[in-house]
Amino acid sequence: MGSDLSIVNSARISYNRDSKELDYKDERLIKYLLKNKHTSPFEHVLFTFNIKTPLFIARQWMRHRTWSFNEISRRYTDENIEFYIPKEFRLQKDDNKQMSSEEVLSETESFLYHSEIRNQCLISLQIYSEMVSKGVAREIARGILPQFMYTNFFGTVDLHNLLHFLELRTHIHSQHEMRLYAIAIENIVKEVVPITYKYWKELKEE
Ligand SMILES: Cc1cc2nc3c(=O)[nH]c(=O)nc-3n(C[C@H](O)[C@H](O)[C@H](O)COP(=O)(O)OP(=O)(O)OC[C@H]3O[C@@H](n4cnc5c(N)ncnc54)[C@H](O)[C@@H]3O)c2cc1C
Repeated sequence: MGSDLSIVNSARISYNRDSKELDYKDERLIKYLLKNKHTSPFEHVLFTFNIKTPLFIARQWMRHRTWSFNEISRRYTDENIEFYIPKEFRLQKDDNKQMSSEEVLSETESFLYHSEIRNQCLISLQIYSEMVSKGVAREIARGILPQFMYTNFFGTVDLHNLLHFLELRTHIHSQHEMRLYAIAIENIVKEVVPITYKYWKELKEE
């Protein structure tokens, strides 16, 4: 909801003025607002995303308190359980405690772990389904399901907080899988608010 024009008009209400179409002055205003951290006009542009992602990425995502979330509940449903099974296994980086390096396991070892993870996930799913079929409550049976399980949520956020999210989550320190989502979102932002995106990127690179 909203556009570059909504940002300009939210800012110009201070003067009781509005624009019908974005002109050069409006573009300069967006740049000025970004540069001087007049952030509230950017809160009038809202995004809702429907995200399917493994649990371990959803956990990182939901640390962003300025988003509103609603997620599938495994207390309510035992259907459509899917797993993310990695094909490539990045190695731990030597000089950074949290990051992975660009180096990966050999193809043979990767293939082995890919199929072992797949088997483990299927075993977990089998035990889960058995428990549910015996009447165990979904809220306790779900404990056996691994972090590779996909979850599905809606997340709504305003542009100001989304740009903050992008700064953190497209950064090289962010987990690779999380960065892929953030980069996809960055491309959406670029389409929806091209002028804001242009100046935000410029300022980031200054
Ligand atoms: C690379 C990376 C590694 C991380 N590693 C860890 C880790 O090891 N362990 C861990 O627990 N977390 C970790 N985090 C999560 C991190 O600490 C933040 O919780 C997360 O990035 C959300 O950032 P945020 O609080 O700025 O965003 P949001 O929650 O969206 O908040 C946006 C801004 O609003 C303000 N704000 C929101 N809530 C409050 C509040 N209650 N009080 C004051 N100001 C508030 C702050 O200015 C904040 O920057 C990591 C994050 C990144 C990007």
